[in-house]
Amino acid sequence: MERFYLTVARVAKMTLRHMVEHRIPMLPDIYSRHFYRYLASTDRDSQEIIEEQQENDLKEVTSQQNQGLNIMKELSEMINKLDQITGNHTEQLDNHLLSLKTTGKTNDLAQLKEEITEELALVIDSNHEIHTHIIDAQETVKRLQRKMEEVADMATIDELTGLYNRRALFSRLAEEHSRSKRYGQGFSLLLIDIDDFKNVNDKHGHQVGDGILKGLGAFLRQNLRDSDFPSRYGGEEFLCLLPSTDVDQAVQVGNKIRQLLSQSILSSKKKDVSLQITVSIGIAAFTPEDDIDTLIKRADDALYLAKRQGKNRVVTEREL
Ligand code: GH3
Ligand code: MG
Ligand code: MG
Repeated sequence: MERFYLTVARVAKMTLRHMVEHRIPMLPDIYSRHFYRYLASTDRDSQEIIEEQQENDLKEVTSQQNQGLNIMKELSEMINKLDQITGNHTEQLDNHLLSLKTTGKTNDLAQLKEEITEELALVIDSNHEIHTHIIDAQETVKRLQRKMEEVADMATIDELTGLYNRRALFSRLAEEHSRSKRYGQGFSLLLIDIDDFKNVNDKHGHQVGDGILKGLGAFLRQNLRDSDFPSRYGGEEFLCLLPSTDVDQAVQVGNKIRQLLSQSILSSKKKDVSLQITVSIGIAAFTPEDDIDTLIKRADDALYLAKRQGKNRVVTEREL
């Protein structure tokens, strides 16, 4: 793990130097593209270390999934056992019932009474056992649910903000892109970047910064539609995919977010600090000629322009 972090730090440094030397704009998406390009073209060892780590991450998800499957197997065995217990008693009691209906003799009845009493004592014992099994099964179901949720979250949710992560975003973008290409209904992207966020960290510390990012995550979830797809795109950048939305509608959404936010106070619970932040938003809408990269690039360019024009504003690709 240590080796992995050292390697990432080294490649990150080389990438930064390369970008500065070639005057490449320092935007997260461009940076990450250069990072991987740099890694792929120059450094075989680092490439292997990073790929190995990614494989390990994948193995971790698979191992969680296997644990979930084992719990399911346990549960299914438990249910079979319960079925067996109740099945046995039902059969015995049915037989006794049949005897009761058919026999007339008093001695037989006395004998039958004894057998039924014994059998009922066993049923009562079994009922206790079944009760314990049911409680165990409920616990197992809960454990299984938690495991399943963990696996799903690990793969798709950003831990800090609770929004979708990049992996989930790109998978949804691919779906939305091919749907729009086929049916032509279109979608828009809002690329949201916090203004002067570095100052927040510098002034109040990284923990407060994290709290604000978390608060913004909740704010976006609360103020976007359920059908929208807000994700954490990078450090303090959020990419929201708005299905079936054209540029004009996206501008309305962007302005609503920007205005509401500029009237809201976000709090960092840990440090008990409340702050007001603003965001800049770049907007681009799908066209049939787009691939995902070109579309994000236009949202990125619009965001860059919003920053240059003074921040706390919404700019669309039409203004580029
Ligand atoms: P601008 O208005 O141009 O966007 O300025 P800015 O200060 O927001 O932009 P810049 O890109 O210079 O700085 C982004 C800052 O976001 C720097 C980095 O430390 C901070 N940041 C990124 N990810 C995290 C995070 O996960 N937690 C915290 N606390 N800060 C983060
Ligand atoms: Mg930024
Ligand atoms: Mg920023």
